[in-house]
Amino acid sequence: MSAPTDTHCPYCSLQCGITLTPKPDGTLSLAGREDFPVNRGGLCIKGATATELLDHPERLTAPLVRDSRDDPFRPATWDEALDRIAAAITATQERYGRDAVGAFGGGGLTNEKAYQFGKFVRVALRSRNIDYNGRFCMSSAVAAGTRAFGMDRGLPFPFDDIPKADVLVLVGSNPADTMPPAMRFLEEGRERGARHIVIDPRRTATAELAHTHLQPVPNTDLSLANGLLHIAIRENLVDEEYIATRTNGFDAVRRAVRSYWPDRVERVTGIAVPDLYELVRALAAAPTAMILTARGVEQHADGTDTAQAWINLALALGLPGSGPGNGWGTITGQGNGQGGREHGQKADQLPGYRQLTNPAHRAHVAGVWGVDPDELPGPGVSAYELLDRMGMDAGVRALLVSASNPVVSAPNARHVEERFAALDFLAVTDIFLSETARLADVVLPTTQWAEESGTMTNPEGRVLLRRKAVDPPPGVRSDLQIWREIADRLGRGQFFPTEPEEVFTELRRASAGGIADYAGITYQRLAAGEELFWPCPAEDHPGTSHMFTERFPPPDGRANFLPVRPRLAAELPDEAHPYLLTTGRARSQYQSGTQTRRSPTLAAAVPRPYVELHPELARSLGISDGDPVRLSTPRGSAVLDARLDPGSRRDTVFVPFHWGGAACVNALTSDALDPTSRMPEFKTCPVAVEKAVFTADEQNGAAVRPAAVRT
Ligand code: SF4
Repeated sequence: MSAPTDTHCPYCSLQCGITLTPKPDGTLSLAGREDFPVNRGGLCIKGATATELLDHPERLTAPLVRDSRDDPFRPATWDEALDRIAAAITATQERYGRDAVGAFGGGGLTNEKAYQFGKFVRVALRSRNIDYNGRFCMSSAVAAGTRAFGMDRGLPFPFDDIPKADVLVLVGSNPADTMPPAMRFLEEGRERGARHIVIDPRRTATAELAHTHLQPVPNTDLSLANGLLHIAIRENLVDEEYIATRTNGFDAVRRAVRSYWPDRVERVTGIAVPDLYELVRALAAAPTAMILTARGVEQHADGTDTAQAWINLALALGLPGSGPGNGWGTITGQGNGQGGREHGQKADQLPGYRQLTNPAHRAHVAGVWGVDPDELPGPGVSAYELLDRMGMDAGVRALLVSASNPVVSAPNARHVEERFAALDFLAVTDIFLSETARLADVVLPTTQWAEESGTMTNPEGRVLLRRKAVDPPPGVRSDLQIWREIADRLGRGQFFPTEPEEVFTELRRASAGGIADYAGITYQRLAAGEELFWPCPAEDHPGTSHMFTERFPPPDGRANFLPVRPRLAAELPDEAHPYLLTTGRARSQYQSGTQTRRSPTLAAAVPRPYVELHPELARSLGISDGDPVRLSTPRGSAVLDARLDPGSRRDTVFVPFHWGGAACVNALTSDALDPTSRMPEFKTCPVAVEKAVFTADEQNGAAVRPAAVRT
């Protein structure tokens, strides 16, 4: 391939457009695409250095197997590796039943792969057990959006609407670090006079640029949103006509927020009463206003209700579906965080957002797949529950993992690592030997972003064509080929095409008539440069950039309010754990770091894992900048370098979650789950903070384990 190829970044959900051009030395140059309307040529450091992954010396290029977990890996032929996987599946299912084999996918998989992985589990394995790491990302906003609007699309409007908001409230979102090119939408808004308010316990780079930064106590957003709605009602600022004509259930919410007196909300959240009033009045008075939430709101054991509280406020002010510059939305994080949750790798879901519990949905999808609807299993359990039960009687005994590294990214990560060790069989497909792959019996090397074609869907519901730019290294196969070969060995190969466009054509039929309807989207239309947002039900349909403009999807066309109240947190600070721990991303790293920690440029930008803490907190604990700091919770501890930051709260420390081993902050995080979305409580838990004295294990680089591990 010698011509330039237009494609997209391998990392976050912004999916910036890039052009890859072959150089005479055989490598590729990379440049941002000016013609792509989302990034307009802009890239962050991650995207700009993405080619460092393609010829990386640690790249897996041959299957790896081992005869026992005590043995080192050895290279194997594809036939040996695939035969072992098929034999393990067959033996496990004969002994324990079909559901004893499960799968764990990733929010970075293309639409074609996410679709095919879900189909593979239901049709080839005939197991109910599949879920994916997107459950850890935005599932609470999905659940809240579905409850309120009858459907979930992260942004029901394009990014281009953001500059049109006269007042923009960003809650628990830090695009300046997580997706810097998206800041152009905020800059454009500020240039035309918009007012921006950031609500975040940390003074992030995004907060620095806003007009107002409100810094609440972590995990008090639900009380904050209820308190803001209380003021809006008391001040007669709600949109009564919108409420009457476009919504249901406001009276119950009106009653539920009656007791959220401003002084009470100030005591809970730490936000001063005048600031509460100012925020509500600004939102209500603005000709156009928008509320955007993200992981800071959603990654809690009450994340669904917290997202709902912000939706309640947006509905009461008449924002969703009220024209460009108005609305509520959630900014998805993972590369295919939107598309990856639409087409069947979730435990309860079939393609197009169809449901496994709905007989008509089962019949439609089974018809496309050419199987009997009764053959399809029912819903499985959510991601953490699947991991938590591995190797147990009620859990999976053999697991296939693709594009995910739960040993670093799951909460209570040491426990999860122990559950992996309890599996009878583990196969991992990845481009590098991740922390999870190191625990496997078989590791399969797979293609990566520039070596394969496929579609991705960004937070706007915009479907994008990722084009293949280079051939993969010899010996590497695509996930689509791998699943076909395993299915062949199980006698079900006839159901699994391997060409991405063929899979997409089938996905279009499977999603037709569903909520996320891709029927009218084709590779040809995308390649011709059409901007296509789902739902797009026919090839002559222009797609749907703005949703909810006339009506909401429920049968009566109305959105739903729902009263929500905070629940008591699973853990509260005590004498032993007096501070709060919150986690998130660093600008130059991404997710579990399997890719970005291996990029020399990105590794140099953040060479060591760190904990941010306020200088006064550090001083009180005898900690100086750069000192090793031990953080401990009942689940384990981690040792990180101190980074003093006056923008932190004095009661809260922040750690990026990109590292494993002794610096794995998810060894500390809580596995309390949201009752609706099954989202773990990633964002806040009580923690002990002290200057570290290394144990012998830590000196040797081993993982830090708690004295007692839950079994
Ligand atoms: Fe890639 Fe996201 Fe950075 Fe864009 S913002 S270059 S998609 S990592």
